[in-house]
Formats: sequence, structure tokens, C-alpha cells
Amino acid sequence: MPHPFHWQPGDGLRHATLQSRPRGGFTDETRVNTLCGTSIKVDDSEHAWLWNTCRECNKVAHVLAGIQ
Ligand SMILES: [Zn+2]
Repeated sequence: MPHPFHWQPGDGLRHATLQSRPRGGFTDETRVNTLCGTSIKVDDSEHAWLWNTCRECNKVAHVLAGIQ
């Protein structure tokens, strides 16, 4: 079963979101709500995917994935 969330960089960190990703991905500047309870402005540039993972999103993502 696929996980209900996916990773999305924005505002300087890689966050995870439950919002369904449109075909081709979110366009830059779109706001998405993240698992850590904030909303980020999407940055889909290549360097954005190298940002650090948001600790809070990582924690929630592990719970959702059934991994503690
Ligand atoms: Zn986050």
C-alpha cells in the first residue's frame, strides 16, 4: 500500500504533506499544508530536494508509515 503522504521541499526544508500531488508536481509558490502543521511555499528546484528533512514531518511520516 502506498503511503498517504509524500515529501515536498519548501521554505528551506523537506517537509511531508498529505495533499495529493498533481500530475507533474506542485508548481512553485503553491502553498501546501505539511505534517508538522505548517504551510510551506513549494520549491521544486533541484537544490531544494537536497535540503534537510523536517524533523517533525519525519516523525509523523514514520508513524503514518507504521515505522516507529
Ligand atoms: Zn515539516
